[in-house]
Formats: sequence, structure tokens, C-alpha cells
Amino acid sequence: MGKKNKDFVEKITAMEDDFAQWYTDVVKQAQMVDYGAVRGTMIIKPYGFAIWENIKNELDRRFKETGHQNVYFPLFIPESLLQKEKDHIEGFAPEVAWVTHGGDEELAERLVVRPTSEVLFGEYYAKNIHSYRDLPMLYNQWANVVRWEKTTRPFLRTSEFLWQEGHTCHADQQDAEEETKRMLEIYAEICEKYLAIPLIKGRKTEKEKFAGADYTLTIESLMHDGKALQSGTSHYLGTGFADAFNINYSDKDGETKLVHTTSWGMSTRIIGGLIMMHGDNRGLVVPPKIAPIQAMIVPIAQHKEGVLDKAYELRDQLKDLIRVDIDASDKMPGWKFNEYEMKGIPVRIEMGPKDMEKEQVVLARRDTGEKEFVALTDLHTRLPKLLEEIQQNLFDKALVHREEMTTVAKNLEEFQKVLDEKGGFIKAMWCGDQACEEKIKEDCQATSRCIPFEQEEVSDSCVCCGKKAKELVYWAKAY
Ligand SMILES: [Zn+2]
Repeated sequence: MGKKNKDFVEKITAMEDDFAQWYTDVVKQAQMVDYGAVRGTMIIKPYGFAIWENIKNELDRRFKETGHQNVYFPLFIPESLLQKEKDHIEGFAPEVAWVTHGGDEELAERLVVRPTSEVLFGEYYAKNIHSYRDLPMLYNQWANVVRWEKTTRPFLRTSEFLWQEGHTCHADQQDAEEETKRMLEIYAEICEKYLAIPLIKGRKTEKEKFAGADYTLTIESLMHDGKALQSGTSHYLGTGFADAFNINYSDKDGETKLVHTTSWGMSTRIIGGLIMMHGDNRGLVVPPKIAPIQAMIVPIAQHKEGVLDKAYELRDQLKDLIRVDIDASDKMPGWKFNEYEMKGIPVRIEMGPKDMEKEQVVLARRDTGEKEFVALTDLHTRLPKLLEEIQQNLFDKALVHREEMTTVAKNLEEFQKVLDEKGGFIKAMWCGDQACEEKIKEDCQATSRCIPFEQEEVSDSCVCCGKKAKELVYWAKAY
């Protein structure tokens, strides 16, 4: 490795030395974000935003395919409205931002900058739903929300972030519960198939569920450093919000009934997950399906006659097939190699005078660093296949890592030992008593991640109190 290359790589801390610093270095060096003027806020730069747009487009398409319509609700919530649902306000109060003044004048009623919009939708639905014919009402909004966080990190925890929030009303419990599950499955599909993030799907405990929900379904993933990330949630809200906001309808038989509501969300936080799942000491690794640029053409010895022309010709031939770009700037190829490795672009296409003579190019994979020569005539078939192989490899690697980092614990001693020595997911039985869950959080700083849909019986007694176990729970330290 030349000196220049080395200096470049040294700009990011090795993940083994300091994972948190590695993360911060990567988001900066890969041109994903910058810090906002207010502490805890972030500027999402073009490359970071392009990744978000790809995630957004995939989600949005699926929302529409399943009958949802996009809407936009206001940023501000009057205090009185937020207080209508007791559990909800209690859950969010510690982290809401208040607006108290308009210009110089103190407002008669304080306003909350939305931390989530259940109450706004609740009020709207109460006015707009009358009959069973109005149901289901399936809305989604793409918006920013504000939660005043004490400690913040780009994408993972910021005071303001982007997300979508779905809010739906249904005639009965069954329809609403099916919706809750359906949306979780959409999140799971995006994570597994597009972001190459393997998941554990399950239900949150009472303690960890969304404030005001009957129950919360979640997808949980395990990051490279052995900490878990909640990657998307879908809530069945029962008739709690309908009751608080008076959202009722008249049924076929003329009877007045409360609707059943759901809400579900995925945010820019998932980009943090993407980085921590696949990144390495050379920077970001972006799965091909979500990559804004899937292949970057880097001409070699581009001052030589014909090289640039040929490289542009290649770009034009490939652009209908994949998302391809070319860097024809006068920067050194070594600089370009590092730059696009840092950005995690899945494939680099090198082409120089010698390759031109041989009617071939070099394909370099970001995930493994492997290189292969491919004849120009084969490129149309080889490139899409290579992108698929990279996509699959990233998922497989992540899955192997998660399996290696998942350990069964049968008592608290074993539990603590796993956390001290290894981290990762801990599979342990639980009696269902919140006191045990709280003790584990207090003593071990690990939280229950979910009660997985796929249950196993790894022991017959609770990992904490030793009493009869009710169900298997995944535990971990989490972001
Ligand atoms: Zn117990």
C-alpha cells in the first residue's frame, strides 16, 4: 500500500479499537452527514439522503400496494390534545420540545413539536369517520419528528429525524391486528432483502411497548459490535386512542362502535443500522439493492488516447442495466479507489489502455476486495449477477455473525458472563414478571429486545428469579 492510501485509511479509527469512534469517522468520511447548528441535530448530505430516498421509495411502493394513502399533518400539537391519552403523554413527556412563544407574544396554550402524530390523526379520524363504509382508513405520512435526546449520534439518535408514520383505523380487532402484522412484514422484507439485515421478529414486552399501545411488534437486529438495534415497529393500539378521541362509526346494524387503530414507523435510524451492520475498517459497505451508485467506473491512465471515450461509452451501455457512474476527474486512481471504498460502492470497474486492448475490464468487489477480469461482451450478464452475489454475501455474513453472537443463558450468572465476555443477543427464559425484567436492566444494563414469534424452550425456569418460565425472550444491550 502506498503512503497516500495509508494516510487515507488512517482517517478512520479501527472498529476493534473504538467502535463508536469508527462509526462517527465513517459517517463523516463517507459524506453521509454533518452536524447541525443545534446540538443533536444532523444535516443529511446528498449521499446519505440518496440512501434514505432508496429506502423510502421501496417502502412507499409497498405501502401503496397495500392500499395506503400518503397525507401530511401539521408539525405542532396543542398541549391539550397530547394529554388526551394518558399513557401516551407519560411516555413522551420527558423528550418533547415545547413552543411557548409566537414572535414576542406568549402563546395562550403551549405547543408540542410532534414527537409522533397519533393524537393529530386521532382528532382527524374522529371527525372524518362516520360509517363502516369509511373503514378501513389507511394513512401514512413522511415527516420529520422531534425528540429532545440527551445523548445523540448521527442517524442512531438525533433530536430531529425523518421517518414515516402509518396511522390506520379498522372496523374490528382482527382487521387491525392483521394490518399490524402486515406492516411489520413489509419492514422485515426491506431489511432482509434490501438492506441485507437479518432480523428477529417478535413482540415487545409490556415494559418496552409503545406508550399507549395494546402491544408492539418489532424487528430486532444485531450490530457488528454485538449491540442490538430496534429496526422498525408496528403497534396495535386497540381501542385506547379511539376511546380517548371518540373515533366511532355506525356499523351495518346501526350500532355505534369504536374503531381499532394501528400505527407503525421506520426512520432514518435504519441507516445507522446499515452502517454498523456491514461497514468495515475501510469505511461503509452498502448493499447493492439500496446503493445509490452500484458500480463506479474508474478509468486508469485516462490521459492516454481513447481511454476516457471508452469509459464513457461503457457508462452509457450500462446505465439502463444498473446504477452506474464514472469518475473522470483528474484525481489519482488510488485516491478514487479509496474514496469509493469509503462510500461503500459495491463494485468498482477499472479500465485502462491494457484492458482496452484485451476488450476487458477489472471488476473489484467492495465486500471481499476480490478482483476479476471480465470480457466486455460478458459484462451485461456478469455485472447484475455479481451485484446479486454481493447482496447475498452481505446477508449471509451478517447472519453468521448474529448466530455466533447469540448465546443461551440459564441463570443471571451466565447472563452477566455473556455480556462481559462477548455481548450479542442472549436467549433466556422469562417468567413474565416485570420485576425480573427491571432487575436485569438495572444489574446488567441489558433490555428485553423481543419475545420472538418463533419460541423455543431453552430452560424451564426464569433466568432471573428461577420460577417457572413463561416464554423465551431475546435480551441485549441496545442502541
Ligand atoms: Zn422471573
